[in-house]
Amino acid sequence: MGQGEGDSPYEARSSEELGRYLVAARDLSPGDLVLTERPLVFGPKGMPDPEASMPCVGCYKPVFTDVGERCSQCGWPVCSGNCPGLKDPRHHGVECKILSARPECVLIGMADYYRHDALLPLRCLLLQTTDPGKWEKLLEMQSHMECRLPGTEAYDEANEFIVEYLMNNFINQLNTNERKKILTTSVQCAHSQNMRYNRYKCFGNTPRTGSRTISTIHKHLYHGT
Ligand SMILES: [Zn+2]
Ligand SMILES: [Zn+2]
Repeated sequence: MGQGEGDSPYEARSSEELGRYLVAARDLSPGDLVLTERPLVFGPKGMPDPEASMPCVGCYKPVFTDVGERCSQCGWPVCSGNCPGLKDPRHHGVECKILSARPECVLIGMADYYRHDALLPLRCLLLQTTDPGKWEKLLEMQSHMECRLPGTEAYDEANEFIVEYLMNNFINQLNTNERKKILTTSVQCAHSQNMRYNRYKCFGNTPRTGSRTISTIHKHLYHGT
């Protein structure tokens, strides 16, 4: 959290009815900075017309898909081969190896082929090895899986568009050793991580850059909407 102990403008509370939530700890004026926090994880968000433009997987700038460059390793659209986010483990640096399991590029049906919504859950899973401390913080967030059990629309949607997409196209293409090196638990965790993500995505959207984030403080905010 960005504020020091004792002078925070908000308090975290919880109740059986509401779960976790925040309340103002003092009177707030227009323009007051209420909270600031570095995200646990960054990810691209889908564009309104993904056949025309997609976010760079390194920096999230929109890229025209028909003329834009592609990552030389995995083939996903990028703003430039020199984009610093391509090597950065907080952005594309680690996932590139996994996405390279399906190296060919396509120009027809790109929206189905490159599902940017799947990358944030994948990056959540990768925290297991890239930053175990952040992974633990992520697990502390409420998943609300009790409302999204198998057979519900939300579960089936996440299963098809996130879990099966990642498993069939990428994870299952890796050999056992590669999988163990990258992921210490089953990708089925993507279900719960995706649920967490879905709960918090409205807070993490940054439209100008085409990115989405998850922050620990967001765990308190879901019930505030
Ligand atoms: Zn870029
Ligand atoms: Zn790549």
